[in-house]
Amino acid sequence: MTREELYQSIYTHDTIYLPPHEEGTVPLEVSLGCSWHKCTFCDFARDTFQIHSLEKIEQSLRVLSSLRPEDSRMFFLGENVFCLSTERLLSIIELAYVYMPNLKEFAMYSRIDDILSKTDEDLLLLRKKGIEALHIGVESGSDSILAERKKGITSAQTVEALLRLDKAGIAYYLTVIPGLGGQTYSYMNAIETARMLNKVHPRNIWCLKLKLWEGTPLYKEAQNGSFDMMTPEQIIREERLLIQNLSVTDCLFEDTTVLDKYTIRGMLPEQKDVLLHAIDYLLGL
Ligand code: SF4
Repeated sequence: MTREELYQSIYTHDTIYLPPHEEGTVPLEVSLGCSWHKCTFCDFARDTFQIHSLEKIEQSLRVLSSLRPEDSRMFFLGENVFCLSTERLLSIIELAYVYMPNLKEFAMYSRIDDILSKTDEDLLLLRKKGIEALHIGVESGSDSILAERKKGITSAQTVEALLRLDKAGIAYYLTVIPGLGGQTYSYMNAIETARMLNKVHPRNIWCLKLKLWEGTPLYKEAQNGSFDMMTPEQIIREERLLIQNLSVTDCLFEDTTVLDKYTIRGMLPEQKDVLLHAIDYLLGL
């Protein structure tokens, strides 16, 4: 088999989506879909949720060990792989070390309730065994927006889970969605999201402007007029308000979707003014 054929043999989909800062990380497909699968804006969880067998994972590791034997960081593919039991995660990690002895760190996507379902001892053990970071879509700090979009978590649960990750030494990269409250709740989305983020210690905040995906419940709400979708300019104004109100430290803030074509990026708090000026420039202020 060619390298291309070997890669194709271990991934379900032709395109692999890795979050920012994991582009060079070796991906291992561990599950498909999302165990929650209810958020009304989400188009990422089209697959039916399933966890791959250890046999299938072992076969993928065998292939990866021949293709990328030197890699030291691995990303477990799947919308929320951290929902797996601690025992299952540990057995996959152990297997990965057998086939790829140069591995040192693991990262994956997680929901907030996946973290809350684990004990502090579990989190510490998982950190000790190599889980270095989780990528988490927290989306908003507003409980009413979270409930309306069926996210299935509250902002207090988010803070609790992230502070427990701090204690365990597991880093976290957060995604938030400006525009998720529509025009009506835009101010609330910015202020309450900043308030929530200021209580935790994200390594990175990635703003991902709301996009309406055809076929999602939110798309239908926008079609029938019950959701007042914002324009890209309105969304970036909301994001400006969010940045103004952030007091996080040692945190890289970025948005790769500004006005649908620009990227802004800067460390907080040092480059807060740079970020605000960049937005003002793009808005022609
Ligand atoms: S938790 Fe994430 S992947 Fe799952 S439905 Fe919600 S947004 Fe989609």
